[in-house]
Amino acid sequence: MTHILANYTDDRWLEAKTGLADIRSALTGEIVARTGSDGVEFGAVLDHARGVGGPALRALTFQQRAAMLKAIGLAILERKDELYALSAQTGATRHDGWIDIEGGAGTLLALASRGRKELPDDVILIDGDFEPIGRRGTFAGQHVYTSRQGAAVQINAFNFPVWGMLEKMGPALLAGVPVIVKPATATAQLAEAAFRILIEAKILPAGSVQLVVGSLGDLFDHLTGQDVVSFTGSAETAATIAGHPAIAREAVRFIAERDSLNASILGPDAAPGTPEFELFVAEVVREMTIKAGQKCTAIRRAIVPEACIDDVQEALCTALGKVVVGDPAVESVTMGALASAAQKQDVLEKTRQIGEEATLVFGAADSGSLKDGDARGAFVSPLLFRTDAPWASDVVHDVETFGPVATLMPYRDLADAVALANRGKGALVLSCFTNDPAVVRALVSGTGPFHGRMLFVDRESAGESTGHGSPLPMLVHGGPGRAGGGEEMGGLRGVRHYLQRTALQGSPRMLAAVVGSHLPGAPQPTGEVHPFRLRFDALCPGYTHHTGTRTVTLEDIENFAHFTGDTFYAHMDEEAAARSPIFGGRVAHGYLLLSFAAGLFVAPEEGPVLANYGLEGLRFVKPVKPGETIKVALTVKAKTRRSPDMGEVRWGVAITNQDDDLVATYDLLTMNAA
Ligand code: NAP
Repeated sequence: MTHILANYTDDRWLEAKTGLADIRSALTGEIVARTGSDGVEFGAVLDHARGVGGPALRALTFQQRAAMLKAIGLAILERKDELYALSAQTGATRHDGWIDIEGGAGTLLALASRGRKELPDDVILIDGDFEPIGRRGTFAGQHVYTSRQGAAVQINAFNFPVWGMLEKMGPALLAGVPVIVKPATATAQLAEAAFRILIEAKILPAGSVQLVVGSLGDLFDHLTGQDVVSFTGSAETAATIAGHPAIAREAVRFIAERDSLNASILGPDAAPGTPEFELFVAEVVREMTIKAGQKCTAIRRAIVPEACIDDVQEALCTALGKVVVGDPAVESVTMGALASAAQKQDVLEKTRQIGEEATLVFGAADSGSLKDGDARGAFVSPLLFRTDAPWASDVVHDVETFGPVATLMPYRDLADAVALANRGKGALVLSCFTNDPAVVRALVSGTGPFHGRMLFVDRESAGESTGHGSPLPMLVHGGPGRAGGGEEMGGLRGVRHYLQRTALQGSPRMLAAVVGSHLPGAPQPTGEVHPFRLRFDALCPGYTHHTGTRTVTLEDIENFAHFTGDTFYAHMDEEAAARSPIFGGRVAHGYLLLSFAAGLFVAPEEGPVLANYGLEGLRFVKPVKPGETIKVALTVKAKTRRSPDMGEVRWGVAITNQDDDLVATYDLLTMNAA
């Protein structure tokens, strides 16, 4: 019996009984599953997300949510073999599957790690610096982020069903926003299997995630201004969704990742025989064939100096001639099938349009010579077109053929290459193969505004380059204009889509209470106990220790100079120091002040402070002359739990002189036992 995919709504699996669509194997055309969402109450799905999932997620801190993402990533990796079997049905080779499955889990793990390192053990996230407003310091501003109280509706493309789902879901969950996933029908069996793994791992609170394996019905009619819709797919569908009245009426945040006619440029210096020439040829072929070219970041336009276009064509054709198309289960096969017969039809139609403006120089639009594959499968050969008149051509810059298809074209000079790249009207990625930094600089200023990511490959970086087509968790994925204007991943940048930024105004005492950190002007209570004797959990932001004093003598300065070897004139030569407009005479080393400050504020006995691991924001504000006296105020500024047993404490250190003038300030970071 054919497997029927199930929706997961209201924390239950629900199979549609009617309105089912067939999902066919990309390799044989046979039906492998049926899917649909008839019977799903979409208003109730949103209510469940907002009423059950949202509150449960918002009750957890960023740190706790990051730990859940890590657990989901590990759960997917533990059961990855189940997913590889289904991935092959979608036409993917093992390597394509690796990008999707392990790449998806890895993206989640990277986000989790970033969240653990950079986000607070709190539900409110500080944005930017404290802004003093009132002259007397009683009124100030601070931006913060809080979790939006709606649902994240995430609509994914067919090409990377696991990666696409996880890279979108991770940021929303980390932000504390429940997710409703809608995978593309053509590969929904793989998305459903991955989703099932994360449900069975029982990591997430009820209502955090729901799955719709079919149409979204009337869901959009129920959207509110707290919801976020993130979409990956064609520009046409994006336009339909963006035009929905509820999206405009409610100002629903809409993030789109759409078509992209990514270009790769061969630098004017990269003549045949140079390493960059070889690297360019290899990259174009790799990008055309990975995932059979069904990659939003694939190279669609290869833009090369007109003097060497024939050489490039010859090298590309030779390399493409080695590509073996067929059943990915066969070891010699290097390129699998398109995801579906419909996708093949689409590719062939768009190929026909390109053929009206450009000449086919490699491959055959009728599937080519297929090895080891079922003729009913959605196979096509790599297809390389060439146009020598790229400015007379529109289709090659406007029509994205989501398959193993690229067009080779010449440029006259660098300005021409820049203008051709920008004719893509906004793309996810541009790469350039050059050994000349001046070329790179010209490209960044000329094409940066049209691209979300730019990759420069030369003989030095090639060995470690992650490639033209790989979005990375720490870098932005998205692009302006035609590419949709969205921005995903990029470290924690993608998380902010699901948070609301609010400017807070009030007294430093109120603002400090909100953000759970000490802010300038907020109360600084003191106590009998030295803060280094208090465990992590007992430390309160604002708690301040005032030290005794120490007078800095000329002898101290000379000892320090000879001990460290730092005999800079400002510390050692009275006449030279007197000529300095800043010092006006010999002064203490800044590092001597830091050392004396530590000597004043540490509590030396063994205790909860496990390690001092750095200083940040160090400023020497005013010189200290021999005979002057310093003292220190050590304030608990912020705390971030790193594990059940310990947490990071950020201490504000203010060194002042006998007149209470600030002479040095910095943040000290320690790890403290909980
Ligand atoms: P698509 O046809 O636009 O479909 C994308 C998603 O939208 C699918 O889940 C689809 O569901 C859904 N959908 C279609 N009509 C809808 C509607 N009226 N309301 C709500 N959802 C709707 O795109 P695709 O064929 O899956 O993917 C190929 C395209 O995606 C290419 O153009 C490629 O450039 C783009 N893409 C872009 C990126 C990027 O990051 N920029 C990444 C991957 C792909 P059904 O499948 O059920 O119709």
